[in-house]
Amino acid sequence: MTLTKTVCPYCGVGCGVLAGADGTIKGDPDHPANFGRLCSKGTALSETIDLEGRLLAPKVHGVDTDWDTALDLVASKFSEAIRDHGPDSVAFYVSGQLLTEDYYVANKLMKGFIGSANIDTNSRLCMASSVAGHKRAFGSDTVPGIYEDLEDADLIVLVGSNLAWCHPVLHQRIAAAKTARPDMKVVNIDPRRTATTDLADVHLRVAPDGDVALFNGLLTYLAETKNLDHAYLDAHVAGAREAIELAAQTDPSQSGLSPEGLAQFYALWAGTPKVVTVYSQGVNQSTSGTDKVNAIINCHLATGRIGKAGCGPFSVTGQPNAMGGREVGGMANMLANHLDIENAGHRDAVQGFWASPTICTSAGLKAIDLFQACAAGKIKALWIISTNPAVSMPDAKAVAAAIANVPFVAVSDIMARTDTGDLSDVLLPATGWGEKDGTVTNSERRISRQRAFLPRPEMARPDWKIICDVAQKMGWGDAFSYRSAAEVFAEYVALSAATRDFGRDLDLSIFADADYADLIPTQWPNNKRFFANGGFFHPDGKARMIAVTPPVAVPSEGLTLNTGRNRDQWHTMTRTGKAPRLGAHLAEPYAEMHPDDATAMGVGYGDLVAVKSLHGDVILRALITDRATKGQVFAPMHWTGQQAASGKINQLITSNVDPISGQPALKTGSIVARRFEAA
Ligand code: SF4
Repeated sequence: MTLTKTVCPYCGVGCGVLAGADGTIKGDPDHPANFGRLCSKGTALSETIDLEGRLLAPKVHGVDTDWDTALDLVASKFSEAIRDHGPDSVAFYVSGQLLTEDYYVANKLMKGFIGSANIDTNSRLCMASSVAGHKRAFGSDTVPGIYEDLEDADLIVLVGSNLAWCHPVLHQRIAAAKTARPDMKVVNIDPRRTATTDLADVHLRVAPDGDVALFNGLLTYLAETKNLDHAYLDAHVAGAREAIELAAQTDPSQSGLSPEGLAQFYALWAGTPKVVTVYSQGVNQSTSGTDKVNAIINCHLATGRIGKAGCGPFSVTGQPNAMGGREVGGMANMLANHLDIENAGHRDAVQGFWASPTICTSAGLKAIDLFQACAAGKIKALWIISTNPAVSMPDAKAVAAAIANVPFVAVSDIMARTDTGDLSDVLLPATGWGEKDGTVTNSERRISRQRAFLPRPEMARPDWKIICDVAQKMGWGDAFSYRSAAEVFAEYVALSAATRDFGRDLDLSIFADADYADLIPTQWPNNKRFFANGGFFHPDGKARMIAVTPPVAVPSEGLTLNTGRNRDQWHTMTRTGKAPRLGAHLAEPYAEMHPDDATAMGVGYGDLVAVKSLHGDVILRALITDRATKGQVFAPMHWTGQQAASGKINQLITSNVDPISGQPALKTGSIVARRFEAA
């Protein structure tokens, strides 16, 4: 059996996989992300790729139909809405699950041909605050980190990241490095004790949203103890004085940490030249997410701990292709190739390259705004591609109602039944992992090929093809006449070369002569380290330290909900839910709570707990443990309305966003909980 080199479809680590049609799944020993390792989700991939539950034919109002009928209906409904209500009356909501080629054509259709920027993505839910923080600090959405830094560092600080469960192979790499170099230190900053904490030398139970206070306090400590790198600041950074002065006004105790804990962390950070600060959803999914990102980056810039081996801030992305999506502009506030919608020169360049009839001139609706516009009746046609917002969005019940309020909804998916698909007028069957070809970019900017190794179900089509089919029926056939994913990728590479003069980071000319079929995993721009020469992407070539203040604490009378993920499940479980051994880890929705809180509620281990917020209520199994912090309840977000009658966790969360990035504050919410009594 010949094995195909492909990439795992789950998290942003982007592990290489050797896969065979007989069900063989192995870690690819040659892939630089994982060197043969896989986690539990990756090793169970073969159990998730059967056709059970698959959407295998287009459906209109639940009835099987042919492709032409379905595509004609989608094209005509979008064309009618644009004609009658303008281009901003339609929207796409897409996904970090899409391959870069899918993302590219969806973005091209919406921004260059329909003429609206109303295309946003579920990646808004996982890393929009990092994007905004990078742009403020570096002048471009450039992720400086590479995985080898995690092995070279002498101190790794994990902030708001349960790496052991959410990016397990990176956790394995750090664990192996720490075993080889026992002097290496790991600090885990997380309100609760997790599997990641087991690897840590120091655990700091930061208060929810206490991160800005913590890192502003670190910046002040670095200044007061003469640990700033003034030569680096003078040569390469602007805004340091303002950031340091404002940080000095922060009371670090707002982080919720003791003076001893703060002193220990600050001394360790200041005394260790090679520090990598890894952060994830606990930082990004917050009303102060962008400020948290910049508070972290400030400390690295202030000490020159960036652009060198074993140093730097490192945002690890949740989804397999969140990075590829942002590279091709698959968000409502971006153009392709990290160019800016607000910049007329950038718009002209992209429109000229596409030879498109129009180009959007301002940012479109970000995820929360998009579904609120649906609820308000402003969106007349909506196409949701490869994602399940009726479960994954905050205030999920209201989002489901908003989708139901749109006159025409198309959903592309691999599954016949999802909470979102059930709200559609048209269902379009997409090819799944193992059946489709394309590229993805992982958290360290490494572009790898996903390759097909399974027969394509007869009626399923790749997402890029479905989007092109609709574009052709809307009258734009010439611009969407690609015959393969390889042709889409070639155009994307050519666009990057055509816009290279704008001085952005994204130059893919390394791929210009590459053979798509044999593309080897490669970091853009040219396997080189960013910022090694101290040059950044702001017009003056300097980075920016950003003056930030901690958010004002909102008193809560109840408990604080902390949402997150399980080790063995992926998002809304449409795929991992098929594998019994993955379900065996944690089999049902649960509430992890502190023993004191359980006692106060009269709840025993395994009892049912009724959890309620302003937006809804759910019933969860009590998991009582001192891993939880008193006053806080952790619950995983995976279970959908179809899998568990107990209710969807994200329906409990208010639709608050970070005002800079538009990222929803999905991590925390205010709840009350009590022992569940059957009526
Ligand atoms: Fe897949 Fe992520 Fe696990 Fe790697 S770490 S096997 S990419 S889920």
